[in-house]
Amino acid sequence: MKGIWLENQQLQLRTDIPVPEVPAGEALIRVLSAGICNTDLELKRGYYPYTGILGHEFVGVVEQGDENLINKRVVGEINAACGYCRFCLQKQPTHCENRTVLGIVNRHGAFADYLSLPVKNLHVVPDRITTEVATFTEPVAAALEIQQQIQIHPSDRVLVVGDGKLGQLVAQTLALTGCDLLAIGRHQSKLANLEAKGIKVGFVDDVKERSFDIAVECTGNDIGFDIARRALRPRGTLVLKSTYAGKLSIDASALVVDEITLIGSRCGAFAPALELLAQGKVDVIPLIHSRFPLTDGLAAFEVAQTKGVMKVLLAIND
Ligand SMILES: [Zn+2]
Ligand SMILES: [Zn+2]
Repeated sequence: MKGIWLENQQLQLRTDIPVPEVPAGEALIRVLSAGICNTDLELKRGYYPYTGILGHEFVGVVEQGDENLINKRVVGEINAACGYCRFCLQKQPTHCENRTVLGIVNRHGAFADYLSLPVKNLHVVPDRITTEVATFTEPVAAALEIQQQIQIHPSDRVLVVGDGKLGQLVAQTLALTGCDLLAIGRHQSKLANLEAKGIKVGFVDDVKERSFDIAVECTGNDIGFDIARRALRPRGTLVLKSTYAGKLSIDASALVVDEITLIGSRCGAFAPALELLAQGKVDVIPLIHSRFPLTDGLAAFEVAQTKGVMKVLLAIND
């Protein structure tokens, strides 16, 4: 089968990859559509070691495995957990000590004709969600994770820093809580997407320091971190939703003096994300920059790496 293979920071389109062998408890999925995410770009830059097929945001059709799922369109949670370690026993499979992660850690990913994932990771996509829209289930789930981690009240003043793919989904999902939200970024055209949904938007100059209860950092750079940090009132909560290349330098004493709560956040539950997408409460279509067939996957990566480009999709067996 075909697949986008990463090795030594080099991508190649291979056509000689065997179709995955499906272990007990897993399903063979023919991939329909997949999305290129910042994590894929970071893996290519060598921020984490990985060799194999990239890709973790996908929609596919089950061809083998659980008979109730055959021919159904599915999305899949990306962490494949062991089921018996202390984190699995505490129902925290995303922290499983023995986990593999689709297209990220020791498990071939979704930029290929086929992938294999545990049946228990799969969720059937409701008919009313198009394949293209369902490709965003994983990032929408990741955005919703914030609301699993902290209670957000309508009276809370919340700042989202970053108007990229992630910031857009975080802002849209937080807006649904009815909180007092401001989303800031650097691009008028991207912020316009959010403004069209009735979300208050602005630039860094619009952020009043020490005034927000919660700040969500979605840029993954130290400038974004600094803006989010300074926006918080004492005893505010700083949510880090993005990973950082290299080490971040922080004024730790100021965090202590202001008694700031720091929350790292990644991944999230798929069921509520599918529900929101089915209800049309999160609009992902404006986030799509372009689509490429898998055979043009290398060109797709070139485009996805271009500054300012939002979501690039791979149409695989669609
Ligand atoms: Zn991702
Ligand atoms: Zn485990």
